[in-house]
Amino acid sequence: METAIAKSLKQVMEKVNSAIKNSTKTNRCTLVGASKTKPIELLQQAYDAGLRHFGENYVDEIVTKSPILPQDIKWHYIGHLQSNKIKQVLVPNLYMLETIDSIKQGKRLIILNQQFFITLIRLATKVNKECQKLSKKLKVLIQVKTSTEDTKSGVSAEDVPALVEFIMTQCPNLEFSGLMTIGYEGDENAFIQLYDLKIQICEKFKLNKDEIELSMGMSQDFEKAILYGSTNVRVGTTIFGARDYPMKSQCKEEHIDVAETKQNEQKAENKQTEAQQEEKKSE
Ligand SMILES: *Cc1c(COP(=O)(O)O)cnc(C)c1O
Repeated sequence: METAIAKSLKQVMEKVNSAIKNSTKTNRCTLVGASKTKPIELLQQAYDAGLRHFGENYVDEIVTKSPILPQDIKWHYIGHLQSNKIKQVLVPNLYMLETIDSIKQGKRLIILNQQFFITLIRLATKVNKECQKLSKKLKVLIQVKTSTEDTKSGVSAEDVPALVEFIMTQCPNLEFSGLMTIGYEGDENAFIQLYDLKIQICEKFKLNKDEIELSMGMSQDFEKAILYGSTNVRVGTTIFGARDYPMKSQCKEEHIDVAETKQNEQKAENKQTEAQQEEKKSE
């Protein structure tokens, strides 16, 4: 008997394929199952129905799930990464880290440029170093903060070229593979902005635009995102059903919800400040 997951996965796959056919901006797209908070059994069902790319937001979950599930799964890390969790997130079959960003946000105008640059490259530097220790070459995406989005994570578009250049020239264990954004549901402007940025980056760094990824689009807007050039859609709810966050209390600090309420955002901000202070202490 076909499981509910197999059925919804099949529908999503069909939609992805027809969106690819209708898109003038991409002729391929990877479906990443965003499986945060979902139990192993449901991931296994999706695997059995043919899904191979899974995305997790919480380091604890990827650490728990990846050794148990089949080893040919290609894991994507799609959550905010704190530097004290880098070692753990580098599980053997981590395929792509989608969320290279800078550690501090919004301080650009009040700190010196040199210092800003150090902040911008800090996460990439640390991930590269840990990959070096493991002799691992890791695909990374830069998470971009699109103008219409007010989430805390992501590099602003104007700073992306400097970070790309740094990764390409100074991080031999990282493979710059493209750009990612979260954006608001169905936000065409974010899609357009990210696509234009990709073209700009490809021209500047002489990269093949067919090989550079654009990770955008989720349950509510993945078809639209593909029309606008997405090559990597992250679909959770539509495949796995609604989330009830049973693990939220354990994993709060890594969770960046797309539709956080103002209150939650404030809390998250306080938490981030705490985390940054922690980080400073540990350095
Ligand atoms: C949870 C999550 C998704 C999936 O969202 P759905 O709306 O459930 O499809 C995609 N990307 C990121 C970064 C997420 O955190």
